[in-house]
Amino acid sequence: MNPLTSQSNLGAIDAAHHLHPFSDMKQLNEKGTRIIARGEGVYIFDAQGRRYLDGFAGLWCVNIGYGRKEIAEAVQRQMNELPYYNTFFGTTTPPTTLLAQKITAHTGGRLNHAFFTNSGSEATDTWFRMARVYWKALGHPTKTHVIARRNGYHGSTVAGASLGGMKHMHEQGNLPIEGISHIGQPYWYAEGGDLTPDAFGRKMARELEAKIDELGEENVAAFVAEPIQGAGGVIVPPATYWPEIARICKARNILLVADEVICGFGRLGTWFGHQHFGFEPDLAPVAKGLSSGYLPIGAVLVSDRVAKVMIEEAGDFNHGYTYSGHPVCAAAALENLRIIEEEGLVDRVRTDIGPYFAAALKSLEDHPVVGQVDTVGLIAGVQLAADKGTRRRFAKPDDAGMNVRNHCLENGLVMRATGDRMLASPALIISRSEVDQMVETLRKGLDHLR
Ligand code: PLP
Repeated sequence: MNPLTSQSNLGAIDAAHHLHPFSDMKQLNEKGTRIIARGEGVYIFDAQGRRYLDGFAGLWCVNIGYGRKEIAEAVQRQMNELPYYNTFFGTTTPPTTLLAQKITAHTGGRLNHAFFTNSGSEATDTWFRMARVYWKALGHPTKTHVIARRNGYHGSTVAGASLGGMKHMHEQGNLPIEGISHIGQPYWYAEGGDLTPDAFGRKMARELEAKIDELGEENVAAFVAEPIQGAGGVIVPPATYWPEIARICKARNILLVADEVICGFGRLGTWFGHQHFGFEPDLAPVAKGLSSGYLPIGAVLVSDRVAKVMIEEAGDFNHGYTYSGHPVCAAAALENLRIIEEEGLVDRVRTDIGPYFAAALKSLEDHPVVGQVDTVGLIAGVQLAADKGTRRRFAKPDDAGMNVRNHCLENGLVMRATGDRMLASPALIISRSEVDQMVETLRKGLDHLR
């Protein structure tokens, strides 16, 4: 028995000493924290031994599932050999360098360089500075402004929370910082009105063009968006959206940044989300599925276009983290990518379990409180509706989502709710019967809203 897990008063210790992220601590201490002690496959187990199907893969990240001994062994080997060395001042370590080669290979040669970070938020801060350095090195020092989207999520550092379009995050800490603007999101169900999804997709993409006109092309460095907006509610854009965005970025000479922190490493049935939508970003922050969350690591993947300038023109890039490319985290990530490759998990999502998951979840569209189900690969957003016919939403959308989420949890299923959208993002190894179990439990949770 793990002595850390068997300690009896963990709940009381937690309430006394641990401030949790994204939490109302008063409420949490009253309710009590759930202590998760173990994981196996798609299941997690709490300290009392209760089992939950994790429909969310931790936080969209445990792509290979829990309990893979190969990762623990790779980590142990690297720990014993070299637990740490830095990648500053002319040094690297073997796993760091090999990881840069392996990740970039999966971009089909488009994003050939990797700058390592410890998280997705740090990856955001990194590309944000890199984009500005790029334009300055090219002789365009005024190209500094970055356009992002309302309801997007790019992390919770100051730059991350500023680029994100979450009002509740902006309200804390006087955000966004200067030089950041937001345009709308391609959320057809809620905001599409009478337009067809395709017409709405084009309309929302053209908000980018209007914003560039307003700011002046000579002042805009980049546009950033998640291929599918994750924390904002798994907002799958209409098919017309990304081609139009890519066209505008090219025509107006601004960098296109695809935040691949959720969509990367197989979630959409392609190695990266931009491959699913068929566009080519100049920069792409990644994290989460890079190590399946076994150890913290992220990166910015950099195209030849940007890397050439960073290498040949920019001189010192005065940016980096003590743990950039940490050898043990890199060894974990390498082993994780080996598992994804050898088990064919990306193809499995595209051709087998993804279509099964889509059909199973779509079957919920016959439920009276489900307005629409969006899925791509193994990510889903289930839109709740008070009236399906008119797309009328519940008067208190957050309560509706929380209600369903809580019923799922009581019945052994972890789902997330963003407002009135139920989100799923299970491990890529989920079986058909586990998908069935998930959908059955979710259906029972939905019954409580009738
Ligand atoms: N970008 C996206 C799209 C994310 O979903 C997240 C986290 O959920 C981040 C960035 C930030 O990553 P991290 O929490 O590792 O800092």
